[in-house]
Amino acid sequence: MPRVLPLADMDKILSLSKRRGFIFQSSEIYGGLASTWDYGPLGVELKRNVKEAWWRSVVRDRDDMVGLDSAILMHPRVWEASGHVENFSDPLVECRSCHRRFRSDQVESERCPECQGELTEARNFNLMFKTFMGPVEETGQEIYLRPETAQGIFVNFNNVVNATRKKLPFGIGQIGKAFRNEITPGNFTFRTREFEQMEVEFFVKPGTDEEWLHRWVDTRFEWYVSLGIRRENLRLRRHDPDELAHYAKDTYDIEYRFPWGWGELEGIANRTDFDLRRHNEFSGEVLTYFDEESKEHYFPYVIEPSGGVDRATLAFWLDSYDEEPDPPSRNGPPGDGQARQTVRVVSHLHRKLAPVTVAVLPLSRNERLLPTARRVYDLLRRSFNTQFDDAQSIGRRYRRQDEIGTPYCVTVDFETLDDQQVTVRDRDTMYQVRLPIAELTTVLQDKLEHGW
Ligand code: ATP
Repeated sequence: MPRVLPLADMDKILSLSKRRGFIFQSSEIYGGLASTWDYGPLGVELKRNVKEAWWRSVVRDRDDMVGLDSAILMHPRVWEASGHVENFSDPLVECRSCHRRFRSDQVESERCPECQGELTEARNFNLMFKTFMGPVEETGQEIYLRPETAQGIFVNFNNVVNATRKKLPFGIGQIGKAFRNEITPGNFTFRTREFEQMEVEFFVKPGTDEEWLHRWVDTRFEWYVSLGIRRENLRLRRHDPDELAHYAKDTYDIEYRFPWGWGELEGIANRTDFDLRRHNEFSGEVLTYFDEESKEHYFPYVIEPSGGVDRATLAFWLDSYDEEPDPPSRNGPPGDGQARQTVRVVSHLHRKLAPVTVAVLPLSRNERLLPTARRVYDLLRRSFNTQFDDAQSIGRRYRRQDEIGTPYCVTVDFETLDDQQVTVRDRDTMYQVRLPIAELTTVLQDKLEHGW
């Protein structure tokens, strides 16, 4: 297996993504809209599985977490309190010749990277998208599309505490869209202007914040590993003091080795009591917490693991891509031993992330096989995301499923009609085993939970 996907292979990934229905250019028939992408039939399943795995691990499986789904549109004062109106900007420079714009911290020389023209002085460019609420387009009606989901959690702090009676330490998790008018989006779905975040705000007693930051860094790092990303393609990077966001006391980024270099998947920040204090000040609502043990009122400190759904999905997809030599005996007829050495494109996506979990493949389109194959398909789709495929040779169909990362293929052949058994093939080892149809669901459920 290659340890890192070469940049040159990005073209193959882009073409596979489009051909098999993972990711399409948005508004493609109109020439596309820069750096916006649509998830196709398989992409949407993959992305849902990523979100589901996150929600399970971070919200459902923990006693100290609850979930939330807050609105994208929020009161404009929220963004004054949070510091986004004042601080959420990137330094922008413009080329005096070709008028292209760049982030000055991403330009290495003092000349335009495209045409070597002279660059203007850097000015701050606010990344929030503005829109208007109501039928009148006046300044007073201006609102923002949220640039992060976090603030929806802070403004609901009291609501959640009152509704759930949660005691510190506890956290609130949320998945949702965020929008940033990035100056230089790019690298496929890595940096876009519309994206999804999965965020936790974890409220702790001041003084325990440093310990909780490290716990969350470990938990989140291991989550990526547990879902199949090679450990050597992940690293932790601590922010330098001059790089910290205006609200942060300490921050670690979990980075992935993308084909174009290391890039952030998730940031885990110690946001201190900055946000609750500011919203208390700006809204007038008391956002302190009453600690029944110490009988004190205080602002909790906040640890924030904030990840991108699209970046995580991309990393899982890239890290799983592989091209393996396919021994001739496996794909050619017996006897053509020395003839062909072909390549098997296989996506080793974790079985819980794969867009299709089981494929049901009748050996041929022979009409005697069809009713049983359909019966197996109807049985399995009750429990798994299942695909039925009877087009072309069985070898080709295995290849198609390997390419999209389907962990299990179930083949119905003529023997099935007599013994009510089917062949189950594992994607990674290509190991095959015969199983009674009556046991299929239980066995596959067990394999899905524990691996082959
Ligand atoms: P970067 O330095 O790459 O711009 P950031 O530090 O501004 O990212 P955060 O504000 O920490 O990002 O946002 C949390 C997460 O949201 C990031 O780790 C990333 O996964 C995701 N994210 C942020 N901006 C984008 C974007 N433009 N496109 C896709 N995902 C994004």
